[in-house]
Order: sequence, then structure tokens, then C-alpha cells
Amino acid sequence: MLHVNSRSYKLPSLPTVVVCIDGCEPDYLAQAVAGGHMPWLKRTLALGSGLIADCVVPTFTNPNNLSIVTGAPPSVHGICGNYLFDTVSGTEVMMNDAKWLRAPTLLAALADAGKSVAVVTAKDKLRSLLGHKLRGICFSAEKADQVSLADNGIADVLALVGKPVPSVYSADLSEFVFAAGVKLMQRARPDLMYLSTTDYIQHKHAPGTPGANAFYAMMDGYLGQLEAMGCVIALTADHGMNAKVAMDGTPDVVYLQDWFDAWLGPATARVILPITDPYVVHHGALGSFATVYLPQGVDPAAACVRLQALAGMELVLTRAQAAERFELPADRIGDLVAVSGRFTVIGTSAARHDLSALEVPLRSHGGISEQRVPLILNRALPGLDRQRRLRNFDAFDLALNHAQ
Ligand SMILES: [Zn+2]
Repeated sequence: MLHVNSRSYKLPSLPTVVVCIDGCEPDYLAQAVAGGHMPWLKRTLALGSGLIADCVVPTFTNPNNLSIVTGAPPSVHGICGNYLFDTVSGTEVMMNDAKWLRAPTLLAALADAGKSVAVVTAKDKLRSLLGHKLRGICFSAEKADQVSLADNGIADVLALVGKPVPSVYSADLSEFVFAAGVKLMQRARPDLMYLSTTDYIQHKHAPGTPGANAFYAMMDGYLGQLEAMGCVIALTADHGMNAKVAMDGTPDVVYLQDWFDAWLGPATARVILPITDPYVVHHGALGSFATVYLPQGVDPAAACVRLQALAGMELVLTRAQAAERFELPADRIGDLVAVSGRFTVIGTSAARHDLSALEVPLRSHGGISEQRVPLILNRALPGLDRQRRLRNFDAFDLALNHAQ
């Protein structure tokens, strides 16, 4: 048995693949299966286990990927967004460096226990977090041409996969992850593999549309190949995805910095959008979650009440309330946490968001409305308590403790 972050896991006896499909609202799967685009998944839902789980709020990529690989919420692993506001220096700091990680990963622990481990991510921003202290293979599709045995545990990924480095804004970036996973399983047969895609397609294409169905059909083919090699497969998502637009198709945005500036004076409160990352073309840095640092003398509870009354807000909490409800590290969030609703996103100031790059009506995530995600295993799960609240970060528990 392996004990990591207060949970116990059996070591894998079969090759085990945990897949995080970025932005996989469950309806993507439903529509693709119904349209006949995912024959492997249709069979798996009938013969294996098709469950729904809750991901972590904020429903963003990094906090959820880290929860999945640690089996724990952000209060334990510390990664609660892409950005952190350092109150000491008054600057926004990117949180994609492993120095921000407060807990060991299951990936590193399995490798330390003598199991061979391979990790493939689409974007490079996740690689150093997922690969923290991992003795094994870990690389991104984005920088697949820059791997070395010393840094990534593997050399010449391009020759292995037989594909060129994909564009960071493409469906190919995720396909590369699956193609690499299949080749690794054929050549090296790792005991455990973690594959993590990117939500480029989900930001642009709604469930059931040709663009979405083509992506899921591609994925289905690779998953079928992994199953044919005898793998236990657990499939989950980091978050869902919803259209966030007004009836005229423009983004439905609450510009929260502007709102605070009008109330308290320019730049006295500080609105942080933890979705912000270097790849903003497809969402314009607009998501349904923000955290706010208030100036001295403003009562957070009173500010909560005032902000909650704003149209489009789903829930506004104080730091202590948010830390408890969403299991977040209290020292890495602001005085307030604001979550907007199913159709609404939060921005800072209208002048600071460039929406000209949005080619299609905005689809985004971050809120409670994107918390439902699939949790699918290609095995029956005897002994699983069906009443328990399942989380996406139960994927390793189900795959290792119940599916084999
Ligand atoms: Zn994501």
C-alpha cells in the first residue's frame, strides 16, 4: 500500500492510465456518444462505470490537475489558480512553479515505490508541477522537440510519436498527448500513465457540434487502443465549460475592478482573475471566478452583501468562508471570493480585456456552474459506495483501489 496525503492506494497490478480531459463538460460525451462518434465510450459506459463527480472550485486547469495527481483539494496542495497576488511586493505572481506546491504527488510516490511512471501534458505550463520530484518520464506536447533524458526522462519524443510539434492553439496539441500515450504504452508499458489535454476545442465548440464531435471521436480511437493493450483507464476532467454570452452573442461580463473603482476610488481594491495565463486568445482572461483584496477599513462581510446584489453574481464569500466551502488555502486568496453564474464571466476593467481575438461567442469556466465533470472507468467498481460525493480527485482511488 501507498500512503499519500492521508489516503491509501494499492500499487497498480495492471498498466493504469488516468486521463484528464480539459474542459470536458459531460454533455460533450453524451452528444458524441449519441451521435455515434465514440463507440469505445458507448461500450465502456455500458460495461464499465460512468459516474459524475465534482471538480474543485475555482474550476480552472491547474488547481484541478494538481488535485487529481495529489488526491487532495487545494487546501492541501496549495495551487488555487494560475496567479497569486503577493501582498508583500504588491505584484501578481504566476503559480505554475513547483515551489508553490505544498504536497507530494501520487505520481512521484508511485515512482518512488518502484513503479514506472509517465506523464504527458498538452501545455508546458503544467509540466513542472506534475513532474515535481518525479523519477520517470514527463514532457509536454507543446515542447516535445525540446526534451532530454536528463530533464524529461526521455529523448526524441518526435521520433517516438511520429508527428511534428503541434501549434499551442490547436486540437493537434491534445491529439499529440494521446498519440504519445499509445506509443509509450506500446514501447515502455509504464505501470502508470497520466495524460492531460488542453481545452482549446471546448472553448470554441459547443457539445454536439462537428468540431467537438471530431475531437471526441479522435480521443475515442486512442482510448480504444489503450484498452486493447490491457490498460485500466480512468477518465475525468479538470472542469466543465459553458457559453458565457448575452443574447447578442457578446461576452456577458461583470467588470469587477471598474465596479470597485466606482465604489471605493481608483485602484484601492485589487481584483485578481486566477484564470489569467499566457494563453488568453481563446477566453480573453474571462472566467467565472475572481478574488478581491480590499483596502483597510472596508468590512469584507459588508462588501460581500453589496457585491452579491450585483446581477450575474452567483455567490460571494469572505476569505474564511471560501477557504472552508471550496477547500482553498486561505493565505493564497483575497478578502473576498466572487463566483459569477452560468452565463456570466468576471473581468477586471473593460479597458484591460482585449476581446478582439475571440473568434466565436465566449465559452469559459471557473464557477460552480462548471463543477460537474465525468468520472469514467473501463471496469466495474465493486465495493464503491455509490452514495459518497465523488470528486475528480478520486480518479486514482477508483483506478487503483476499486478497478483492479
Ligand atoms: Zn482546463
